[in-house]
Amino acid sequence: MKVLVLNCGSSSLKFQLFNMEKNDKLAAGIVERIGNEDAKIKYAPTGRDKYAEVLPVKDHEEAIDLVLKTLCSPERGIIRNTDEIDAVGHRVVHGAEEFTGSVPVSAAVLQKLKDCSRFAPLHNPPNILGIQASLWLMPFARQVAVFDTAFHQTMEPEAYLYSLPYRWYSEKGIRRYGFHGTSHRYVAYKAAEILGKDIKTMNIVTCHLGNGASITAVKHGKSVDTSMGFTPLEGLAMGTRCGDIDPAIPLFVMEEEHLSAADMDKILNKESGMFGVTEGESDMRLIEDNYFAGVERDVLALKLYVRRIVKYVGAYAAVMGGVDAIVFTAGVGENSPVTRELVCENLAFLGVVLDKKKNDANELLMSTGPVAVMTIPTNEELAIAQETQFVINSEE
Ligand code: ADP
Repeated sequence: MKVLVLNCGSSSLKFQLFNMEKNDKLAAGIVERIGNEDAKIKYAPTGRDKYAEVLPVKDHEEAIDLVLKTLCSPERGIIRNTDEIDAVGHRVVHGAEEFTGSVPVSAAVLQKLKDCSRFAPLHNPPNILGIQASLWLMPFARQVAVFDTAFHQTMEPEAYLYSLPYRWYSEKGIRRYGFHGTSHRYVAYKAAEILGKDIKTMNIVTCHLGNGASITAVKHGKSVDTSMGFTPLEGLAMGTRCGDIDPAIPLFVMEEEHLSAADMDKILNKESGMFGVTEGESDMRLIEDNYFAGVERDVLALKLYVRRIVKYVGAYAAVMGGVDAIVFTAGVGENSPVTRELVCENLAFLGVVLDKKKNDANELLMSTGPVAVMTIPTNEELAIAQETQFVINSEE
């Protein structure tokens, strides 16, 4: 079975084509600046020369058409025609309470996705455009929607409800949803597989540390708590997002500086986190370099970043009644030994003992104590392809 994975953003489309017999990636790429005269496709067929071209791309339908033509092109293609694509897996950001797992796309599902758009007005609409264009351009392929939120739908009410007027939940759907679910699920199951243990017996804390970052408590294979909330703004200190703050702060500053809700939304999402504390830097590589050079503000930023992670791991160990494994993943989690070391230093009380050499080498398993500390590269695209295959096989 060949599965095409599509991840449609507002002006970009990421794609990967897999042959599911051996989970082989056949090609990957991105179309950027959709809606512009100077859009760009970057395409990397596995084992062959990479290719890039600048050209006008009007909308998401044209972008998907361009991807299909590239995948089937006589010179650089990897398949002969689109009929070879058995299924398309679509990444969808928000499934609200409607979707507790991946689903085959139908007219009813599309309608529900539109209803969920109020929770993710920037993300769900381009996801929906991608699905509609795929239905049109690949009428014979099966289409499956895979949600960032679905893995967290196993949380109990005491984990997902905020201490706010209850009708905000019952009437408006305001609750913790959580994000990065495909990644948390993938690395948790991979950790159990690598350790040769049954995930149904394990308490795992998964730390997805990218530009956006979240931590999940995975008890016996299910998400029981997660740090992102109603939106991806809550939880850890991130590249440019504030994470947990006293909710009175934005109200106070809005009054004092006469800011609108939109102004404050921008500050909390794009000008806070590491960027806010260092006054201009969100790339963890540079913050680390400056940390080692002793630049005061960067030292503070990294310490603050680490402190927040430590607090969440401790909290989730308490929630689950102990922890068997801590998994680091995504850009920072996979590549930053100093972040992992500073986090683990503070978790010795849980039984965390880090092997410094293995940590410096980004090895899969890097602990010697009773709690396994692991670095597992996330692979959201493969996870979406596997989910897609699973949904289709379960239907037959
Ligand atoms: P996203 O998918 O959320 O955009 P990524 O998972 O690609 O994010 O992670 C991006 C982050 O990872 C950036 O802050 C980047 O600086 C950080 N990163 C990437 N490589 C390294 C590295 N070698 N050391 C430290 N941080 C790194």
